[in-house]
Order: sequence, then structure tokens, then C-alpha cells
Amino acid sequence: MNSLEETKFLLKKYNIKANKNLGQNFLIDDNVITEIVEKADIDKEDLVIEIGPGLGTLTSLLLEKAKKVICIELDKRMVSILNERFSLYNSFEIIQEDVLKLNLKELINNIRSEYKNVKIVANLPYYITTQIITKLLEDELDLESITVMIQKEVAERLIENPGGKNTGAITYCINYYCESEQVIEVPKESFIPEPKVTSEVIKLKLRNVPKVEVDKEKMFKIIKLSFMQRRKTLLNSLTNAKFFENKEEGIEFLEKLGIDVNIRPEKLTLEDFAKISNKKTK
Ligand code: SAM
Repeated sequence: MNSLEETKFLLKKYNIKANKNLGQNFLIDDNVITEIVEKADIDKEDLVIEIGPGLGTLTSLLLEKAKKVICIELDKRMVSILNERFSLYNSFEIIQEDVLKLNLKELINNIRSEYKNVKIVANLPYYITTQIITKLLEDELDLESITVMIQKEVAERLIENPGGKNTGAITYCINYYCESEQVIEVPKESFIPEPKVTSEVIKLKLRNVPKVEVDKEKMFKIIKLSFMQRRKTLLNSLTNAKFFENKEEGIEFLEKLGIDVNIRPEKLTLEDFAKISNKKTK
């Protein structure tokens, strides 16, 4: 059975209607599924964590490749289908939980020594894409890579180089923690039900050492303040946010660092933000 037939069969057998509120768009394109798994580069010694396995289309291929697959799924209906479907696999485990509430650090650290690498592979629920990716990175999990399907529009913001029209605070977060790569664009027809937007698979490879040396909490706070009013200049945003006492102090500070006082935040590089953060004492 191909994944289209399999998905239709399972939806009918269990009398399931996709829950749009949970971002349920099931992947039915075998070529895309193969491409995701190949790109994730999974080894027989690896632990794979799949977020939102749904009916298990991606899961079944992951089980062939990895030493262990731990799935995290919020929808009880999916959990019972998967428990039945993969009951013969010792390497399969499922946790019924909201991924945003789960203590992933504890989960991974408790079993980390049994595996060579830990990799995240998923077709993510789109209504919480950025929250999930931010959590995976900010929790500083011991991960080798994150290979995920997300909305194309979000993918462009994550992978963008500073200066691009999609650059946002999250662009710098990705750049700080990861090397990123666009893998494949995926049309709406590759899912049932069809999502409203085009999708894209991206791969984030975690850096062994962050890209810049900096107090990261402080730098990310500055980045967030800088992007709170996107259309304003960096100077105006940081003055409004009281990062600078007043405009004069801001001008002097930026000029000393060789940063254009009229620059907009999205034109700064990660290194520029690190420079600002490292220079400012308060
Ligand atoms: N992996 C399946 C596929 O590719 O066909 C399903 C992907 S579907 C886009 C997203 C999945 O994430 C759904 O199964 C949904 O129930 C699950 N999900 C939604 N919100 C979640 C959350 N907060 N925590 C864990 N899983 C969630």
C-alpha cells in the first residue's frame, strides 16, 4: 500500500476526521516521506524523536532506520491507532502529551548514553511551528539535527540571511544555534486534507559551539526589543524600549561600534547583535 491508500484506509477503518485545530494534515506523498528520512540521515544507533506522528506514515519508515523512535502526540485517537499499529516493534514508544509542555531535556538526558545521536524528525503541526522550534533550541537539548516539514513562509523566515525581507528575531536564534538548509518544497496536494499553504522541509544541524561568544539571554533580549516595532530603526526601537537612556546616548553608542545609526534591525548580522550585547554594560 502506498501512503495515500494507507492514510485513506486508516481514516476509514478508525472513522477518523482530521482535527484542523491540531494542524492535522496527513502526508501522502511517498517521495517526500523518503526524502525527509534520507535527509535526516538516520543510523541504526540513533534515537529519533518524532513530534506529531499522526497516523504513523513517517513513523513506519523511521522505525526501519533508527534504533529507537519516541513519538510525542497530543491526539488520543492517534495514540491508540499507533499503539495497535506498531505493537510488534520494541523500538517504538509513544508519549501522549503536548510537546510544548513536555520536559524534553529530562526525557533525552535519561537515555542519552544508549544512543549515538538524537535526531528530531517531524511533519510539524503548523499552528505552533515556531514555538516548537524555539523550544527545541532554547532548551539546549543534546540534539544532532532537526529535520522538519513546516510552512514555506515560516521556512523562509527561519533560513533567511540577515537583511532579507523575512528576517525576524527567530532568524537570529536559528543562526546562533544551527546551520540550516532548505531541503524540498512540498505542494498542498501532498497532504490530506490539503493545508492552505505550501510547505517546505528544512534541516537544522546543531552547531557544536554557538556561532558567537555572547551572554545569549542578554543578546536575545536585545534582538526581541529591536524587532518589537519592525518598521522603526534600531536606534528608535532600542530608545523606546529604554535600552538607551535617550537618543543621544544611543547615537554615541552605535557610532562607537561602527553601526549606522539609521539602520533597521533586520539589516544587522548576528555578530552585530553580539557586539551590541557585549559592549553594553547595564
Ligand atoms: N506525521 C503525520 C503525517 O505526516 O502525516 C501527521 C502530521 S500533522 C501535520 C501534525 C500532528 O501533530 C498531528 O498528528 C497532531 O495531532 C499532532 N499535534 C498537534 N499539536 C500537538 C502538540 N501540541 N503536541 C504533540 N502533537 C501535536
